[in-house]
Amino acid sequence: MRLGKNSIINGKLVIAIGSVLIVWVVLLIDILSPGVRYHSLIDILVVALVIPFGIWFIREFKKNLRHREESRGMNRKLKNLDKQKNEFVSMAAHELRAPLTAIKGYISMVTQGDAGDIPEKARRFLADVNTINDRLIRLVNNMLNVSRIEEGRMVFQLETEELSHVVRAVYSQFIPEAERKGLNYALKTSKHIRDRVSVDPDRIHEVIANLISNAIKYTDKGSVMVKLVQPNKATVRFEVKDTGSGISKEEQEKLFQKFYRVETNVGKTTGTGLGLYISRLLVEIFGGKIGLNSELGKGSTFWFEIPLATSAKKKSSAV
Ligand code: ADP
Repeated sequence: MRLGKNSIINGKLVIAIGSVLIVWVVLLIDILSPGVRYHSLIDILVVALVIPFGIWFIREFKKNLRHREESRGMNRKLKNLDKQKNEFVSMAAHELRAPLTAIKGYISMVTQGDAGDIPEKARRFLADVNTINDRLIRLVNNMLNVSRIEEGRMVFQLETEELSHVVRAVYSQFIPEAERKGLNYALKTSKHIRDRVSVDPDRIHEVIANLISNAIKYTDKGSVMVKLVQPNKATVRFEVKDTGSGISKEEQEKLFQKFYRVETNVGKTTGTGLGLYISRLLVEIFGGKIGLNSELGKGSTFWFEIPLATSAKKKSSAV
């Protein structure tokens, strides 16, 4: 049977009070015993000090125990609240994803002519709606991923995939957005690159989308260049280089932390500060590393490197 918190506090208090009482009684017996009279004056002084000290000690001890129990209770409540918050965020994100995916499907049907011819202007508006919808899907995915990864509930469908396929698909998805901002947007991959990696294609798609979307979002003019290179025989490297705002050295150190947003961007652009954090977690899960080179005012290059797959394997795993 578990002891209640009050009985634990009371037990400890009884021990403390008991110890003080024993000291008092021993000292009193010592004072009152015949034959040791020459000690009495010192003993009376000691008793005079020990009694108030004992009372103070018992009070402090009691206070301390109560504080400790209160902070333990508070801790439990906070953990519980945090769990409830995570569950709510997961549930809300999950509920939002289905309608957003449906919107994407309908936009695609209309632009492909399933509802008949549409004027060019309507097509352009729909392209914008699609871009905004994609942004919302990315946000919702990041929110879902964060709690799943942190709680170890994420199931990865690991496949051997050519990274250039994923990069091309994500690159194309962002062409309308880059064009709307008037950016020079290009993709360079070498034909003979070895790029077969063991990843979950959907998750690595999200990482690349986070990095390209940031490069476009934080670049007002100039270019965004996407590249896939081979730094050595065992690794493939993805890079996205922009001519945007750039990031100071101090900010760079905090950039991959959860919810971190660069001060000067808060208010000017919308965001959650989750994209880079999730990207780092995912790249590390796939055995790679992620980073950036940047100079304030001159732009940034965000990159990640992933080891090449050693053999073709197909499996699912929870991390
Ligand atoms: P979000 O973009 O939602 O704020 P991220 O985690 O993707 O969250 O990015 C964190 C912060 O890093 C952003 O708020 C932004 O200030 C900064 N950042 C990311 N990518 C770039 C970039 N290419 N150029 C300048 N700043 C960037």
